[in-house]
Amino acid sequence: MSNQTHKGVREVLATENFVTEDSHIILPNGSHTRIYLDKSAVVANPLVLDTLGGFLGHLFAHDSVRIVVSTTGCAEAFGKVVARWLSIIELVDVRYVSAIEADDGTFSFTAEDAARITGRRVLIVEDIITFGNAVQNLLTAVEKVGGHVIGIGAVWNRGPMGAEGLEVPLRSLINIPAEVYHPEDGPPCPMCAEGIPIAKDLWAAKTTAEA
Ligand SMILES: [Zn+2]
Repeated sequence: MSNQTHKGVREVLATENFVTEDSHIILPNGSHTRIYLDKSAVVANPLVLDTLGGFLGHLFAHDSVRIVVSTTGCAEAFGKVVARWLSIIELVDVRYVSAIEADDGTFSFTAEDAARITGRRVLIVEDIITFGNAVQNLLTAVEKVGGHVIGIGAVWNRGPMGAEGLEVPLRSLINIPAEVYHPEDGPPCPMCAEGIPIAKDLWAAKTTAEA
């Protein structure tokens, strides 16, 4: 991995094949890409998950975060360990809640969780950010219930989302932009053009699982 990645993170991810580079992968949304982080393998390894959560938590060690908010799934696992690490670093209780996603991609909270967020300094945690739609919607949902978002932390920002359009800092452990090619939109996939075989098809896996 490149030097755009935190050295400790690089070492941790190298312990198993958590990252696949120079490959040809179909993502769950049907897009093609070259680099892949197997986040479910990370979440399945609590020691690795906790180590990455510690690195991510340290990026926000001086921001007085009092609650971490994330989406569900792998992001929830990361969010919880980040909250745990921030509690240790700052010697205060840092809470965690996950947001409820609606069919249109917007988020909301239960009344109890909304009350936990109101008036608190919030860190949004995401596993992988590509276009940033989810974190933008999450930010809106947190502000709607009176939370103050102080930053967004991600394991990997594979772009094209940058910090430019955001009012809060975006910090991530891995900052390698990964070109994502959608078959129906944008430039054609160069790996397909070169005839490189598909190494992993997460779209097919997802479609089969849903059938
Ligand atoms: Zn392709």
